[in-house]
Order: sequence, then structure tokens, then C-alpha cells
Amino acid sequence: MKLDVAIIGAGPAGLTAGIFVRRASLKVACFEKLAFGGQAALTPAIDNFPAYPTTDGFTLMQNLLNQAQNLGVKIEYAAVNKLSKTKSGFVLETSAGKIEAKKVIIACGCKIRRLGLDNEEKLTGHGISYCASCDGSFFKNKVVAVVGGGNSAIADVEYLKNIAKKIYLINRRDVFRAGEFQLNKVKGYKNVEIITPATISKFCENGGTLTGIDINHNGHAKHINLDGVFLAIGAYPEINFLDFEINKDSSGYIIVDNNMQTSVKNLYACGDIISKNFRQIINACAEGATAGNSCIYSEN
Ligand code: NAP
Repeated sequence: MKLDVAIIGAGPAGLTAGIFVRRASLKVACFEKLAFGGQAALTPAIDNFPAYPTTDGFTLMQNLLNQAQNLGVKIEYAAVNKLSKTKSGFVLETSAGKIEAKKVIIACGCKIRRLGLDNEEKLTGHGISYCASCDGSFFKNKVVAVVGGGNSAIADVEYLKNIAKKIYLINRRDVFRAGEFQLNKVKGYKNVEIITPATISKFCENGGTLTGIDINHNGHAKHINLDGVFLAIGAYPEINFLDFEINKDSSGYIIVDNNMQTSVKNLYACGDIISKNFRQIINACAEGATAGNSCIYSEN
């Protein structure tokens, strides 16, 4: 079976693209290697999605998934290991087999960044987490740190503020990337202490469980006893499944035009993986709609 459109990634961009493609009665499937909803599904609280004044990422993404599936978008939980060009389109080598498609939309989002410290991997799940909404409840009345200065870090603090006894917010610079409104809100919480500029030099452990961190705070070495650390230090693009060249910016994000067309014919990209300045669920959805629409109206 040859698909009209194969979508790589079932986050906000990919699922929305699927909705638009499917409404034109084209044969479409979304390939997702992990869980639907991408990073958006891990966002504890969302207050800037139009018409949903307060929601959480998981609920929003569950609704989006249901909408796409009800329209007939097939979701295949399989990793795309290789994407190659053929004479009449593309072939995707996935963990569930080979699939041919006339057109492809890359909506695979970005990969969560890790600090890369010695025992980070070993302590993940034993005090270190990358997802406050997944693991936050394990830290009731405990002392935790959130690391990062972007909107994700602030969202994590928001989520943890009524669970943890104390939260250290640690950022490597005095300046935060997060919006001022969100940042000022968390500055007002009594159980939040902001430490900047500070970097973690070591995760301390006892018997395979995190007990604290060594930090460098403005040139001074310090130790903080902790029960948990939530790392929210952003994400980076990774598209190593591509078997051909594509135009990317200097940071590795895919360059697209206004139609979400990449430098390769019939290959589109949308969401966090594209080169842009503003990464939000709302514009990921809008780009997905554009990419889907482009697939409908472009020549084969
Ligand atoms: P981000 O905006 O890229 O912020 C990453 C933060 O981690 C920055 O403070 C960065 O510091 C720091 N960082 C990066 N590498 C580090 C390292 N090795 N060690 C220590 N700190 C490090 O990432 P994000 O917060 O995940 O947000 C990603 C995108 O999603 C953004 O566009 C954001 O606006 C959006 N988002 C929006 C919402 C919302 O509106 N509700 C919620 C979540 C995310 P530097 O500043 O020094 O680089």
C-alpha cells in the first residue's frame, strides 16, 4: 500500500497536519516512535492556547489525537529509521516495516537536552527527571530543584509549587528566556528560591538514589541537599533518519518556505523541528495545517 502522505511525528504539528490531509480524503498515517502529543503532552499547565484558558498538555493532545483518529488518521507507533527518495516519492523504513508515500511531512519535534554529567543517566528515575507532570507526584513535601530558564522550567515550577515543600529554580544565567509574566508569578511563591547564575557540577548520590547537587553559584562552590531534580534545559533538532541532504540552518533546524515546503520536492516540515524564533503549540498546529494543505494542493 502506498500512502498519499506519511507524517513523521504525532505531536501538535503532525496530528494537525493529519487532520487537514484526511479531510481531503487522502490516505495518511502518522508514525510516532514514542507517545502521541510530543513534548506538548508533558507540559503540566497551558494557559495560552486560544479558547482553552486553563488546560494541561496531556488533555489538549488527547483531544487532538481523538479528533485525528475519528477523522481516519492512522497512528502507527513505529520509529522511522530511514527516509529515502524514490522516483515517485519516498520510502520510509520503520520499525514496523517499509512504507511508501507520495509525500512526507516531517513533524518529529526535537530531542530533550541532557546535562551530560557523569551519573545523570544512572540516576534518571532515581531522583532525576525530565518531566514534572509525569514524576512530580513522587516528590510530595520533598525538596527539589528545577534547572533551566525557559518556559518549560517555569511550567515545571508552577506544577510542583503545591506538591514539593521547597523548590530551587537554578538557571545558568541571570537572564531568563521565559516570559516575564510567567517568571514574575513564580518569583512570588514562598517555597521557591531562585539561584542564578549557577550550574550543576555534580549529581550526588547514595546507593543509586540522588541526595543532592554540587553547584557553582556565581563562582562559589556549594552543595544543596535534594530529593529530586527536574531538568528543563530545552531540546535540540535530530533528524538522522534522512538519507539525503536537506537545507538546514546553522543550528540544524529544517528551513521551510511559507508553505512548509523544504528544499526537497514533496517533503514538508512543521513544528519545533523547523527553523523559527517562536516555539508554541499554537504555531505548531498552524504550521501543521499549512503543511497538510500544501500536500493536498501540490503536484505529485
Ligand atoms: P528553552 O526556551 O530553549 O530554554 C532552555 C533553558 O535551558 C535556557 O534557560 C538555557 O539557558 C538553559 N540551558 C540550555 N542548555 C543548558 C545547559 N547545558 N546547562 C544549563 N542550562 C542550559 O527551552 P524550553 O523552556 O524547553 O522551551 C522550548 C520552547 O517551547 C520555547 O520556545 C518555549 O517558549 C516553548 N514553551 C512554551 C510554553 C508555554 O508557553 N506554555 C511552555 C513550555 C515551552 P540559556 O538561556 O543560557 O541558553
